Amino acid sequence: MKIAINGMGIAGPALAYWLHRFGHEPVLIEKAPGPRAGGYLVDCWGLGYDQAEKMGVLPKLLELGYHVQDVQWVNASGKISATFKPQILGQMVNDRFVTVERGDLAMAIFGQVEGKVEMIFGDSIATINEQADRVDVTFEHAPPQSFDLVVGADGLHSRVRDLVFGPMEQFEKYLEMRVAAIEVDDYQPRDELTFISHTEPKRQVSRFSKRNNKTLFLLGIREPLVGPGVPHTDDEKRDELKAGFAGMGWECPQILAALDHMNHIYYDVVSQIHMERWTRGRVALVGDAAACLSLLAGEGTGMGMLEAYVLAGELTLAGDDYATAFRKYEERLQSLIKTKQKNALKVAPTYLPKGQFAIFVRNIITRILPARAVARIALMSMKDNFESPEYEKQLNL
Ligand SMILES: Cc1cc2nc3c(=O)[nH]c(=O)nc-3n(C[C@H](O)[C@H](O)[C@H](O)COP(=O)(O)OP(=O)(O)OC[C@H]3O[C@@H](n4cnc5c(N)ncnc54)[C@H](O)[C@@H]3O)c2cc1C
Repeated sequence: MKIAINGMGIAGPALAYWLHRFGHEPVLIEKAPGPRAGGYLVDCWGLGYDQAEKMGVLPKLLELGYHVQDVQWVNASGKISATFKPQILGQMVNDRFVTVERGDLAMAIFGQVEGKVEMIFGDSIATINEQADRVDVTFEHAPPQSFDLVVGADGLHSRVRDLVFGPMEQFEKYLEMRVAAIEVDDYQPRDELTFISHTEPKRQVSRFSKRNNKTLFLLGIREPLVGPGVPHTDDEKRDELKAGFAGMGWECPQILAALDHMNHIYYDVVSQIHMERWTRGRVALVGDAAACLSLLAGEGTGMGMLEAYVLAGELTLAGDDYATAFRKYEERLQSLIKTKQKNALKVAPTYLPKGQFAIFVRNIITRILPARAVARIALMSMKDNFESPEYEKQLNL
């Protein structure tokens, strides 16, 4: 089948990889002028790790990824208030755990499809018109085309979802948080393989020193949704971040000053997408477009890859019967995704505590509980009650 995939983040290229491998003809469309690197760190384990391995990108992730040695929370003067050794998490999943930059993961998957599938950059699906035997699609720039199916892999603010299922507000659960990810050159101080955060009520700034003298920062803020949401231009994002994090201690003044030299700031709402159905007619959604978990789950990329694999596998097993494939795609994954969304919500109070007392309690618990106990608690929400299908075997590939 000829299948249009709108969006080339993580889920889109992963879907293109599997569709191409299973003998279909995917066409990837991305609104940005090139593949989108950027973003913060993602932990890769469990089902996501298995998917990275299946797609052949694991060696690249292990080469570019990090094995974080220490997670620290520091007070306003930089003194350590609590610390946690995350290697214990890795040991509990047989060392199948690596922390990678979202951008490195995106580029690794992109590398697996580059030159093999058609890609249209700097464009977007503009209209979708379903017919009995095809879907007619117009683009913002390219000439119209017809496809057998259309997939929206265009992220949290999906255009395809808007066009086919209705406005985002119907499906969005805003978690009263916004998050920004920025990268700075030559920042000092550095702490290798250490993830350091400073938390004040409703605000947290984290720093991670990367290779090549680069540093990543993650800025999280609790805020009810006011006005038109997160601004679009870098200048507006800078202004909002500077206002939101003004007056924070630790290295925050220096970090906010570094914003002046930054472009392509990732700054977005922390929201989940809850939909009863991820498919309608000849159109399907994958990744954040279908069921964003939010960064609190730490598994948005892994689930995006898994959804792509299951969608491609079911479409291939079902032959021309895309309706059956779509149903099976939803049946196989919806309960897993719902559980992950629920688990993510439980993380919110510890990720961005609302008050000083909650920060104190978090620090005390992290300090007094043995690392193994903390890891066991973390693993309870990391454990998956899900048997991944093996489409390559079923298809004799
Ligand atoms: C640049 C960037 C940085 C990110 N950084 C973080 C981060 O630091 N922390 C975090 O938790 N999550 C981050 N995310 C989100 C994270 O990547 C996703 O939660 C997860 O990877 C699921 O992947 P996805 O492919 O569904 O969505 P995404 O990775 O968001 O990819 C969606 C893709 O669709 C494209 N797109 C959007 N609208 C259109 C359109 N109308 N037409 C064509 N293409 C379109 C986007 O440019 C993007 O390439 C980031 C996303 C991006 C794009």
